[in-house]
Amino acid sequence: LWITLEGGDGTGKTTQAALLEEWLRSQGWKALRTREPGGSEVGVLIRDIVLHHRGDIAPRAEALLYAADRAHHVATVVRPALDRGEVVIQDRYLDSSVAYQGAGRVLDADEVRGLSLWGAEGALPDLTVLLDLDPVIARRRLDSAEKPFDRLEAEREEFHRRVRESFLTLAAAEPERFLVVDAAQDADEIAAAVRARVATLLA
Ligand code: C5P
Ligand code: MG
Repeated sequence: LWITLEGGDGTGKTTQAALLEEWLRSQGWKALRTREPGGSEVGVLIRDIVLHHRGDIAPRAEALLYAADRAHHVATVVRPALDRGEVVIQDRYLDSSVAYQGAGRVLDADEVRGLSLWGAEGALPDLTVLLDLDPVIARRRLDSAEKPFDRLEAEREEFHRRVRESFLTLAAAEPERFLVVDAAQDADEIAAAVRARVATLLA
């Protein structure tokens, strides 16, 4: 079973990924928690490029770097884990590229998606949890938390609004794959909603 978590910065993806992993393990499942960008050794190098050169990479080059990270991650980390029968919990996947490189950087959404799908040989997760939150609230959360460098936010509110809208459009187009959760709720409430859906998929 392959589960991805999506949503803007500060919506709680990493927290929910950790809670889901903990719960799955308590239920006796083998779970692998991973992320993009940077879910493989090569990916860590690509993450370093895209995050430290944000703003001075040509948009298409940035989209290719994210797609390259993804291609390598799927081939060397995700697929092997799924083949071993593990549950993969993944912080961001190709929907993030459609939202950030597509809507955010204003590239064609279908082209960005096509690029990632080509890289990942068409692989799509069984479930995508979209943590939906007003970017102004998300920003406030990030500001009150300790912020590592890669969280540095140069983009304006407008960018994050486009990203949010793009995620919602993606979810509406694939209602079977997506679970949209109101990320303004408490972490425990969100975790319970996620667990309920995951439990049906494991049954
Ligand atoms: O989710 P995480 O905090 O690891 O993401 C690091 C940064 O990379 C975030 O600020 C996010 O906005 C950005 N990002 C991006 N395009 C992607 C994935 C992440 O711009 N496809
Ligand atoms: Mg995170």
